[in-house]
Amino acid sequence: VTFASLNLAEPIMRAIADAGYTQPTPVQAQAIPLVLAGGDLLAGAQTGTGKTAGFTLPVLHLLNSRPAANPGAGRPRCLILTPTRELAAQVEESVQTYGKYLSLKSLVMFGGVNINPQIKSLRGQVDILVATPGRLLDHVGQKTLDLSAVEILILDEADRMLDMGFIRDIKKILALLPKTRQNLLFSATFSEEIKTLSDGLLNNPGFVEV
Ligand code: AMP
Repeated sequence: VTFASLNLAEPIMRAIADAGYTQPTPVQAQAIPLVLAGGDLLAGAQTGTGKTAGFTLPVLHLLNSRPAANPGAGRPRCLILTPTRELAAQVEESVQTYGKYLSLKSLVMFGGVNINPQIKSLRGQVDILVATPGRLLDHVGQKTLDLSAVEILILDEADRMLDMGFIRDIKKILALLPKTRQNLLFSATFSEEIKTLSDGLLNNPGFVEV
């Protein structure tokens, strides 16, 4: 499989070339076509497999290729939940890197830092929001974040989110999203708890394991 055969938009291909990637990793080769087709996805992939680009590249392509269904300031079209601040920051950096030739805007938010700059950023355009669950719910509580325009939800390292006790927060967040949306769940391991979460969340998902 080559990147050229994946049908990603030219500005995304240019960013991939700038990053020095010559060939998709196995998780990318399998996940990218499924995500581009609009389906839900259950993916088993560890850190280091290229999983971040596996969901970021096709999501950038999808958001770039269609107008926002429900545009408005501070109304993200894609929500990426991660267990930790460090991972949230890394994922958002990847979004910036691969999306550098697109006009989509991303924002990262996590706890432990002043909430006010995040509130200010939410007054502008935010297409892709990368967040940890607790801080996200703080914003929902303060009514500074509107999740009603989310078209794509991604749970990254879902097993770690469950291990860290985020299941209640995740359920609260899911209840705030539009019913019709695309869902991607990435996890390094598949426990009963992950199976229960994915059964409730994913519709007829494609499955990828590397
Ligand atoms: P991840 O598993 O998403 O944390 O990515 C692990 C590392 O692989 C990151 O440093 C990426 O920059 C790198 N990477 C992702 N995709 C590719 C690729 N197709 N070719 C070479 N390196 C890649």
